[in-house]
Amino acid sequence: MKEIIGVSASPGLALGRVKKISKSYKIAGRIVSSAELEEEMFRESIIIAKDDITALVDCVASDEGEIFMFQREILSDAGLLDAILKYIKLGYAAADSVEKAADIYAEKLSVIPDEYFAQRAGDVIDACGRVVEILDGHPRKKIMLDSKVILIAEELMASDLAGANKEFIIGIAMAAGSVQSHCSIIARTYGIPTIVLAGEELLKIKDEEVCALNATEGVIIASPDQATMGRYSHLKGLAGRKSFLEGQLKHTPCVSKDSVPVKLYANCGAPADIAAAIEAGAEGVGLLRSEFLFMEGKVPDEETQFRFYRDCILAAQGRQVTIRTIDIGADKEVSGLTLHEDNPALGMRGIRLCFAKPEIFKTQLSALMRAGVYGNLRIMFPLVTTLDDMENALIILEQVKDELTNSGVDFAKAVAIGCMIETPSAVLIAAELAEISDFFSIGTNDLTQYTLAADRLNTAVSGYFNCESLAIQRLIEMTVLAANKAGISVSICGESASNPQTALIYARLGIKRLSMATVAINEVKQYINDAVVYPV
Ligand code: PEP
Ligand code: MG
Repeated sequence: MKEIIGVSASPGLALGRVKKISKSYKIAGRIVSSAELEEEMFRESIIIAKDDITALVDCVASDEGEIFMFQREILSDAGLLDAILKYIKLGYAAADSVEKAADIYAEKLSVIPDEYFAQRAGDVIDACGRVVEILDGHPRKKIMLDSKVILIAEELMASDLAGANKEFIIGIAMAAGSVQSHCSIIARTYGIPTIVLAGEELLKIKDEEVCALNATEGVIIASPDQATMGRYSHLKGLAGRKSFLEGQLKHTPCVSKDSVPVKLYANCGAPADIAAAIEAGAEGVGLLRSEFLFMEGKVPDEETQFRFYRDCILAAQGRQVTIRTIDIGADKEVSGLTLHEDNPALGMRGIRLCFAKPEIFKTQLSALMRAGVYGNLRIMFPLVTTLDDMENALIILEQVKDELTNSGVDFAKAVAIGCMIETPSAVLIAAELAEISDFFSIGTNDLTQYTLAADRLNTAVSGYFNCESLAIQRLIEMTVLAANKAGISVSICGESASNPQTALIYARLGIKRLSMATVAINEVKQYINDAVVYPV
C-alpha cells in the first residue's frame, strides 16, 4: 500500500483499477543522431499527418473539408518539403526543421495583403504543427475505454478528456497538471474526482493496479489494504448521506441572513450535466462552454450543433441557459483549428479565432439562433478585449440573422447577447461595452491570469493567481458599476465562484448572480445563507 499526495482539482471518491495514459507533452529533447534518420522520420511523419488530415476531411462539413484538403496539399508542396530537407541536411532535428521552414513559408503568405492568404498562413502552421507533434512523439489520439477506470497520466489536456468516453472515467490523477487548467475544469463539470500535481511517484503505479482516490483530500492510495478499502466504503456512505441532506437544501433559495438574494447557476458542458445541475438546484446554466463539443475529435457541422444546443436548452426545462460561443485556443486545443503559437494565451484564442474562421463562427451562431426557439437562451462572446471585438461579433450575428430570415428558417428573435469580461482591457472599457451588450459575465480565471500576469497553468506562479486579490476586487467593482449604470445584469462564471468564501466576497462587491461547478452549489448556498453580506 502506498499513499501519494497531490492537490484536489475536482472533489469526490473513487475506488477501482488504474488505466495509465502514457504520453508526455514535454519534448524529450530533439537529439539528432544522423541526418538520414531525421529525413526518414520526417518522411514517415508526413505520411501519417496526411492520413490524419484525410480522416478529418471525411468527417467535417464541406467548407471546412476544403481547409483540410488545402492542408493536405501543403504537406505535398515541393518548395516547403525542399526547405525542410535543407534544414535537416544542415544538421537540424526534423521537428525543428519543419518548424523553421513552416514559419518562413507562413510569413511569406501572411505579408500578402489579402485575407485569403492570411488564413492560408494559419493552415501552413497548423498542418506543419501536426507533423511536428508526430515527430515529437505525441500525436493526438482519442482515449478509448471499455470499463470503469481511474486514469493516471503525467498530464492530460482538455482535448484528451473532451474526446474520451467519460462515463467510464471514475477518477483522474495526474503527476503534473494544474487546478486552473481546462482539463480540470472539464473534470469538475462532469463531476469526475481529480487530483493534480501528485509528482513522479504517481507514475510508478502500474496499469490495472487497484487504487483508492480521495480527490477531496488530494490523495491517492495504490493497492489499498482491507482496512483502507473499508474506510473508503464508509466515506462513500457518508458522501451519500451528505448528498441526501443537500437534496433537501436544493429547494431552499440562496438568501443571506440580511436578506440579500444571490442566484446560483451552473457551469456545464452538455445536456446530461445540465440535467444534473437542475437536479442539484441550479437556477439555470450560467456558462456552457460550447468548445467542449468541438474538442470531441471533429468540428461539428451545423445540424450536430443545432441538436446539441437544442438538447441543452431543453434539459434546462425553461430555465435560462447562457451558451458561450467557442473559446478555442490556449490550453483548449482543437485539431485543425488551433495554431501553434509561442504565447497561445495571448494569441489566437476565443473571439479572435472566430474572426479568423468566420465560417465556423457563423455556423455556430446559426445553430444557436435556431436552437434558441426551444427555450430561454442567452449567447455570450469570450475574450473580448476591444469595442471592435464586440461590435464585429454583433455585425456577424446580424448577418447570420439576415441569412436565416432570407432562407425562411425559424430562429429566436429576442436572444440576449452578452460580453465576457475576462481581460483588464474589457473592464477599462466596460461603460462602452455595456452600451452594446445585454449582459456581462465576468470570467475570473482569465481576468486573474491576465491582470496578475500569472499563467493559469503554471503552478510556479500560482501564488500570484489570486482571484480575491485587491486588483481583481477593484476590477469587479468597476464592472458592476458600469453594468448597473447601463441597467444590464452582471454575473461571475469563473471557477473562483465555487469557493464559498470567495463567493461571499463577490456578493459584497455587488454580484448577485454566480455560476459555478454543480458540485459546489450546495456548499456555496449553505455558506451564503449563514452569512451576512453587508455587516453593519
Ligand atoms: C474564465 O476565464 O473565468 C472563464 C469562465 O472562461 P474559461 O475558464 O473557459 O477560460
Ligand atoms: Mg476564460
